[in-house]
Amino acid sequence: MFGLFKKKEQKKDPVCGMIANDGFISKYGEKFCSESCLKKYEEDNQITDDKGCGGSCCG
Ligand SMILES: [Zn+2]
Repeated sequence: MFGLFKKKEQKKDPVCGMIANDGFISKYGEKFCSESCLKKYEEDNQITDDKGCGGSCCG
């Protein structure tokens, strides 16, 4: 394995564009640097955090 096939994708916070690290919050298949960015993402995408639907079942 030379790591040529699997390019490690650097995930970014979709809200502020920060490169994700271990401290980031994983949700909706995205990474968020903070609760406030997560909230903004939810607002922008009109996600209502009712009961654990991460958008995968009704997206
Ligand atoms: Zn952010």
